[in-house]
Amino acid sequence: MHHRQAGSSGPGRRGGTEQPDFPARSAPGATDLAGVDSRVVRCRACPRLVAWREEVARVKRKAFQDWTYWARPVPGLGPPDARLAVVGLAPAAHGGNRTGRIFTGDPSGDALYAALYDIGLASQPVVEHRDDGLRLHGVRITVPVHCAPPENRPSREERDTCRPWLARELELLRPTLVAIVALGGFAWQALLPVLSRAGWQVPSPRPAFGHATEVLLGDACGERQLRLIGCYHPSQRNMFTGTLTAEMLRGTLRHAAELAGLLA
Ligand code: SF4
Repeated sequence: MHHRQAGSSGPGRRGGTEQPDFPARSAPGATDLAGVDSRVVRCRACPRLVAWREEVARVKRKAFQDWTYWARPVPGLGPPDARLAVVGLAPAAHGGNRTGRIFTGDPSGDALYAALYDIGLASQPVVEHRDDGLRLHGVRITVPVHCAPPENRPSREERDTCRPWLARELELLRPTLVAIVALGGFAWQALLPVLSRAGWQVPSPRPAFGHATEVLLGDACGERQLRLIGCYHPSQRNMFTGTLTAEMLRGTLRHAAELAGLLA
């Protein structure tokens, strides 16, 4: 079983990483995505989420008793020249918060990676831990909130505190990014202000989230375009009720990948 060291002590407690403005101070200084990733994992800006991610790691779930949970912010995953971004909600308590890799180790991730594999954007259909060899092709997966929240519900304040990480990530991806898939209304709502501040022309009133809703955003100079595409979140509930089927998820991701020029 692959274990990672939980981050309940160490560098995260030094250098002001517990201050609410740590993301706003630290994220803009990251010069590449690896820099964003290495900074975000040290973040302790949201006291409620820090307490929860560490509590979950201490108590664990029975099936994962022999794991050492990651228990830190979970960074995004994928190449720095991605043409497509997939944005979810937040890590799952016993998924990403356990494995240390986004969408890995929970049913949502199982559905997402299976779909990405089917269309050729992931190197393997089943992902279990950080060292399982997964490679993503042309797609970066990330979240607006990098720590597992109780009941999968971050507060508005936590979302806003975490925003600078997503903003910097998308800024660094900007030279290649062509399309973004927002998995669920939370991702959609979190993305719109980030995109607007990054210079993309977001229509007013702001477009509402919907499955397969597609919005074409231009930049201020009229030189670049970015497509924002809505997709129901592959949550266990959505998949169980059939609100989102594997076919719907695959279809939306394939469409986005085609727009991004990732499919031959
Ligand atoms: S949710 Fe984001 S801002 Fe809050 S502690 Fe985690 S990484 Fe930091």
